[in-house]
Amino acid sequence: MKKQFVVIGLGRFGSSVCSQLHNIGHDVLAIDNDPDHVKEMSEFASHVVLADATDENALKSFGVRNFDHAIIAIGDNIQPSILCTLILKDMGVKKVWVKAQNLQHKKVLKKVGADRIIQPEQEMGIRIANQLDSDKIIDHIGLSKEYSIIELVATKKISNKTIVDLDIRAKYGCTILAIKRGEKVNISPSPNDMVNQEDILVVMGKNNNLKRFEEKGL
Ligand code: ADP
Repeated sequence: MKKQFVVIGLGRFGSSVCSQLHNIGHDVLAIDNDPDHVKEMSEFASHVVLADATDENALKSFGVRNFDHAIIAIGDNIQPSILCTLILKDMGVKKVWVKAQNLQHKKVLKKVGADRIIQPEQEMGIRIANQLDSDKIIDHIGLSKEYSIIELVATKKISNKTIVDLDIRAKYGCTILAIKRGEKVNISPSPNDMVNQEDILVVMGKNNNLKRFEEKGL
């Protein structure tokens, strides 16, 4: 379903969010106060406008209040990022996701009502470290402190076995959410579905259980 997004701040992070949303086919209004950045993004958003993120009247005139989802990606400059978050939440924008520069910035953004605070470098760093930690894990998404979803490559040890045979839920307390084989994705696989070597298993569970499965089950 086509959605409407507003992306404010078109640096490396904002422009990449913006162009990917546009590629997927969503409507994106992109805003920046730097004419060069606005020009660069003209082909990668539905509408691109030159404006200051703290100019409430300008934001109103672009109809920002009608957007369900806003991404504020002003990194270096903490003050406009906070002010813009306040303005957007005041206008009634339901979801406001904001890129934070540091811990103080994050704390203030929480106080002014940001719905999600993103620290791209830290988040990516954690993801990469988790991938480096194991040859078998190809992706890791933290759901909470305790729970994650990971993608693992099926080894010979579990090849040609059904999900019932593997009994991963009983042995390790983990759930196989999907099996990827090449381009095909089998979501919510049935108990009799077979696992082949080199399949990618998408598995959810408690971090310690996932670790046990990765170390002992594969
Ligand atoms: P990144 O690390 O993702 O590249 P930057 O901090 O370099 O992030 O980029 C932030 C973007 O936000 C820049 O394109 C900058 O022009 C824009 N920006 C900064 N302040 C404002 C503001 N007050 N209003 C609108 N855009 C702004």
